[in-house]
Amino acid sequence: MKLVEPVIYVENYDAKKMLHRIERACRTCYRSENLITEDSYKTLLKNCINRGHESILEHEKISVRMICDIGVYKDLTRHRFASFSIESTRYCNYGKDKFDSQIKFIKPVHIEEGTPIYEIWKKGLEEIERTYMEMSKEGALPDQLRMILPHSTAAEVNMTANIREWRHILSLRCAKMTHPAIRQLLIPFLLKLKDDMPELFENIEYDEEFPKEKYAKMYLLDEE
Ligand SMILES: Cc1cc2nc3c(=O)[nH]c(=O)nc-3n(C[C@H](O)[C@H](O)[C@H](O)COP(=O)(O)OP(=O)(O)OC[C@H]3O[C@@H](n4cnc5c(N)ncnc54)[C@H](O)[C@@H]3O)c2cc1C
Repeated sequence: MKLVEPVIYVENYDAKKMLHRIERACRTCYRSENLITEDSYKTLLKNCINRGHESILEHEKISVRMICDIGVYKDLTRHRFASFSIESTRYCNYGKDKFDSQIKFIKPVHIEEGTPIYEIWKKGLEEIERTYMEMSKEGALPDQLRMILPHSTAAEVNMTANIREWRHILSLRCAKMTHPAIRQLLIPFLLKLKDDMPELFENIEYDEEFPKEKYAKMYLLDEE
């Protein structure tokens, strides 16, 4: 059994290029391409968002890759305008050498390490892993093995959404009402977007009280 921290990798996008491309598409509506300057997108895009003219944001997309738990992706996959490719518990057998014959679980952000609840959680997972490996040795297939996997199981998730959908997802999933494991991953991503594209993301609110030291590590996704 391996306990790991969640991580988010963000596509190495060119923010300026994306903003210019959205502006170019938007100006088609008014045939005002002649007004394009180096920074004319700033006012234009802010105005569009204020007026609810948001379909222009669908022309650009951003992909992320996350190492997160099943609970996180169960919630995120409810978003119908995002695309997902997720490590499948139907095909991966963690009893095999390829996975070092162990199951990875995500450390819960909201159960303090060293507390009695944490120790009980960990003991439960050890028992689950023992059972999983026993079933695997008996020849159980991943389809059967997965019946015992809990929400804490780690998985790699690729997720792509256009800017309009990201604005929607982040406004819901960075708010206080959302599960802390999702806030942990998506608040740092939202803060990056606010820095890189304030015209598009500055009005998205988030749980500012979520402890910064608990934010998931964020890296750029290398071009492959
Ligand atoms: C705090 C929180 C608690 C939740 N609790 C539960 C729960 O207990 N049980 C549960 O089942 N789910 C729960 N959900 C999931 C929630 O109901 C949504 O399914 C999920 O957040 C996806 O959001 P969405 O439908 O707005 O977004 P998306 O699927 O991302 O769609 C984006 C937008 O497109 C529009 N849209 C999409 N499809 C349609 C459609 N068919 N008709 C009309 N408009 C559409 C809507 O405006 C929608 O907001 C919860 C979500 C949150 C944030």
